[in-house]
Amino acid sequence: MEGSLVFGLFTALFAVGAAIVAGVKRIAHSIRDIFREQVVRTMDKTIDVVLGEIEGNREEIRNLNERVLELEAKSHRDGTLRISEQEELEYLRSERIGKMQKWGQSNVERLALVTSEVARESVLITPDKLHIADGYVGFASLNRKCKVCQRLLTLRRNTQEVRSLSSFFWGCPAFFENETLSHKYSEAFQMSDLSVFVDKSIEDWNVNDDELNAVVELGKRSVQKRVSQVVSHKIDQIICGTHAEPLVLKEKREPTGLLDQYFLRCARPSCEYKVKIASVGQLSTLLAETQGRGLL
Ligand SMILES: [Zn+2]
Ligand SMILES: [Zn+2]
Repeated sequence: MEGSLVFGLFTALFAVGAAIVAGVKRIAHSIRDIFREQVVRTMDKTIDVVLGEIEGNREEIRNLNERVLELEAKSHRDGTLRISEQEELEYLRSERIGKMQKWGQSNVERLALVTSEVARESVLITPDKLHIADGYVGFASLNRKCKVCQRLLTLRRNTQEVRSLSSFFWGCPAFFENETLSHKYSEAFQMSDLSVFVDKSIEDWNVNDDELNAVVELGKRSVQKRVSQVVSHKIDQIICGTHAEPLVLKEKREPTGLLDQYFLRCARPSCEYKVKIASVGQLSTLLAETQGRGLL
């Protein structure tokens, strides 16, 4: 899907942002060079090879999840598992984290291979452009891991407080799990997270929060119309923090407004993992990702 090619950088974004910040201290490298440096060892691959690896990895994750869910259901039903089964479950869960990272790495490779065709640039997230950070809420980090369970952290925002740079944080997906597995681990959003690599041909990233909000306010109907076309679709680039499978876009029955109307959830029925679409930045991402064009 073209939208994914244009906008698929999300999982890798913050890792690349950090590299750009580091790169400033070196001799004048172009951003593209820094991006390519990240994956220089894999540049002998072709795009088809990388796409094949992504598909293969996704298939492995699906199979792995089938077995994990089987064991979890057995544990739930019988109240216990045999030692060998417990060990298998632990092993499969850690394998899944590895495959998730592999998926993120493959995405960087894929984007490095297509990046010469699109206008990617680094932008700085400033207090008047928080919609850019909003746009990545729900995305997994490539390199930040939970110190408790080793899973990749995902970007979240505290919706209880007034939106500012400090309301963003990296949280462990275990937050959404059942009581036995659940824990709260988080890390602050840092300076190195503020420089992100975006496709400047997506107009939304060039305007400030007020401008984007005003546009959405005026064109609510058309936004709803566009988003409704992808309700029930799997959104390839936003994966469940537990199952590592793409999330599905859902619509609420009685929303209080546009920013309460949609959410993403895991396709596995037993999973509680959810990402609310509660900002115009997320709507931008969703549309850019699925339709190749943001809100503007
Ligand atoms: Zn954790
Ligand atoms: Zn899930």
